[in-house]
Amino acid sequence: MARIVMKFGGTSVGNTDRIKNVARRVKAEVDAGNEVAVVVSAMSGTTNQLVAWTNEIARLHDAREYDVVVASGEQVTVGLLALALQDLGVNARSWLGWQIPFRTDGIHGKARIGEIDTTVMRERFAQGQVAVVAGFQGIGPDNRITTLGRGGSDTSAVALAAALDADRCDIYTDVDGVYTTDPRITAKARKIDRITYEEMLELASQGAKVLQTRSVAMAMQHGVRVQVLSSFEDKPGTMVVDEGEIVEQQVVTGIAYSPDEAKVTLVGVPDRPGVAGAIFGSLADSAVNVDMIVQNVSQDGKSTDLTFTVGSTDLDRAHQVLDGLKGELGYSEIVSDAGVCKISVVGVGMRSQPGVAKTMFQTLAAKGINIQVISTSEIKVSVLIASDYTELAVRALHTAYGLDADGDG
Ligand code: ADP
Ligand code: ASP
Ligand code: MG
Repeated sequence: MARIVMKFGGTSVGNTDRIKNVARRVKAEVDAGNEVAVVVSAMSGTTNQLVAWTNEIARLHDAREYDVVVASGEQVTVGLLALALQDLGVNARSWLGWQIPFRTDGIHGKARIGEIDTTVMRERFAQGQVAVVAGFQGIGPDNRITTLGRGGSDTSAVALAAALDADRCDIYTDVDGVYTTDPRITAKARKIDRITYEEMLELASQGAKVLQTRSVAMAMQHGVRVQVLSSFEDKPGTMVVDEGEIVEQQVVTGIAYSPDEAKVTLVGVPDRPGVAGAIFGSLADSAVNVDMIVQNVSQDGKSTDLTFTVGSTDLDRAHQVLDGLKGELGYSEIVSDAGVCKISVVGVGMRSQPGVAKTMFQTLAAKGINIQVISTSEIKVSVLIASDYTELAVRALHTAYGLDADGDG
């Protein structure tokens, strides 16, 4: 007997027939003698609709009320799946985040999970009951509903698997595994059988939304065995594993793109100590995540330009924060551009193999694509380009690094 957490994403529970399909898959694991907890997302499209409504009411809305609205999608699917399981004769009960509870911090809209009390769930397991758990939601220190950021059900599932000491966390989705790049961008993308936690973490944080970044970080930290697989086909998926479990390492394992970026340039920022601290400190205090940062060399010794990227959903808030600093800092203007995309190539083999960045720059140059900002880490090179060139860039790089399904990769 194993203890398994199964997670089903939005497309997998997108209508009642698909929910019945999920129920059959869960029943198969129960019939095989396993203890099962299931984490589900909202039906596909639901969360987008809920987010859009909050934006229509107020663009800079109260994040507490945003969470009340967007957490509602998962309430529908847990109830429906519990019903579908009961209809198949499976003893099942639904759970919302606050009922378990999933304790989180108070950062509404992108809360982090702290503690999960599994006492009641373990008792129910002992009674042979399947727990159907709402993903994406928790309860904050003030007992209000929180949500974990888009794609957060992956993190709910991994956190639950860690808290329950589960043997496996199976993430069922609409693709049959993790690919060398988003299979929607190129038909030449290849399924990866095994990928390291580290690479998966970089790919996810650079935009490969197949797993939420925090879910990978948590799996790595707690040693949760995560598998990504199809909810529609019966075949092995991708295992996320330790580096030692991979025999042959590629230099570049995958390519991610993140269209949800915005570039902000502060023009004429005073060139004196403390200015960057004031700017990025204020942005951090308002929970605006900053990613790439470039500061130009000061020409006159008095002022400089500072360019950085933020998530496009944070752009309005970033403007608000920076407007508030104008009097104190005295920069001349803010220029922002939401029409940008970050492209990243990722691979642990980069540590020992030079020339990865060169290939990237030359490949983009050959396609006439201008690079606006560059950043690197030990196992990743990222560039910011105009979003119109996203597909062209990803396809060209996929070929250049030998990742194409028909290549010699
Ligand atoms: P779910 O609703 O099941 O959580 P998501 O839409 O969040 O599913 O994630 C699955 C999607 O991630 C796929 O449909 C695919 O388009 C996208 N994706 C992006 N990068 C990759 C990648 N490298 N491998 C697989 N899928 C990817
Ligand atoms: N329903 C949420 C979203 O669409 C959480 C998830 O699907 O993981 O972001
Ligand atoms: Mg997802």
